[in-house]
Amino acid sequence: MSVDLKDKSKAVPARATPARDDDARFRAFADGFEWSGVERLPYKEEGSAPFKSISRQILFADPKLHCELRYFEMAPGGYSTLERHEHVHAVMILRGRGECLLGNSVRAVKTNDLISIPSMTWHQFKASAGEPFGFLCMVNAERDKPQLPSADELASLKADPRLAAFLANYRS
Ligand code: MN
Repeated sequence: MSVDLKDKSKAVPARATPARDDDARFRAFADGFEWSGVERLPYKEEGSAPFKSISRQILFADPKLHCELRYFEMAPGGYSTLERHEHVHAVMILRGRGECLLGNSVRAVKTNDLISIPSMTWHQFKASAGEPFGFLCMVNAERDKPQLPSADELASLKADPRLAAFLANYRS
């Protein structure tokens, strides 16, 4: 069979160059909720705040974005820090089910649910459904440091009947 090399309509399309592991433009998703070339980091500095069994992966952090997209994942029984701050979070649950404390409410949340965390609003995520629980979190690149509840603030949060069960085992 002869092929007319001048006829581009019959030319075999060039194959896309396979992404190299060090090509930060393409990051393949893999089992275990990992992305090629993305490191699974500790959630925070150990001892800086209360948290349990949670990891952090920075998915996007280009300075030109002025924001970062991170993926946090908790093992069953794990939880994020109970905190508040001036900056806001835009959260999408990506894996599993769990619970979220936000302000004066506690909600069961599941894959694909969206959670908007306003300024200075107490928030905490908990993998309370016996399965891994992960979420995407968009945040400003420049942001204030999270505040932890004082003993008095924690006591008043625990005194709220809507939050009492969620916070029952919480120690600051
Ligand atoms: Mn936060």
